[in-house]
Amino acid sequence: MPPTAAARTPRAALAELLAGNRRFVSGQPVHGHDVTAAAAVASGDQQPYAVLLGCIDSRVPLEAIFDQTFGSICVIRTGAHVLDRAVCGSIEYVVGQLGVRLVMVLGHERCGAVGSAVEALRSGRLPEGSLRYVVDRIAPAVHEVGADDPDAHPLAIRRHVRRTVATLRADDLLAGPVGAGEVAVVGALYDLATGEVALLPEE
Ligand SMILES: [Zn+2]
Repeated sequence: MPPTAAARTPRAALAELLAGNRRFVSGQPVHGHDVTAAAAVASGDQQPYAVLLGCIDSRVPLEAIFDQTFGSICVIRTGAHVLDRAVCGSIEYVVGQLGVRLVMVLGHERCGAVGSAVEALRSGRLPEGSLRYVVDRIAPAVHEVGADDPDAHPLAIRRHVRRTVATLRADDLLAGPVGAGEVAVVGALYDLATGEVALLPEE
């Protein structure tokens, strides 16, 4: 059975995703080896069951770490999963038009983008160009944990995931289905050392 057929509730979609991560961690992926044009063609019409928002980090390819096949998940990646209107609109599309029930925000340990924001706020030297936009979006999380805290980097990574989740839950088009329990927005963290994805507990 394709995962899409079994994952039409937020809870089932989350279980499907985490099962895929366990296959990845155990070195027994079902789909990981099948990165071929034939597999892409076989996916036919897309019927994704989750949308993942992750970081651009080259060590965190989302389809691979969740052992997902073509057509099963939608993936959006920006530096430190920073939101902008295009990202929010894309998630609104996936939820509203494709019927996806699960949105996962995935941060990761040693995130360079969050590290850059911590460094910029400590030094007072803010970057120029559009990178400034990215740092500005991460800055509230750094301020909340305290830029001078020795653990500001790992703490801000977690705080920034939680803030991103909260923003999406309050999104104009997502708040309704989230409030009704039809759609879930969850935050999680990827461990570069083990390959494991752990849900961030609700506060
Ligand atoms: Zn990152």
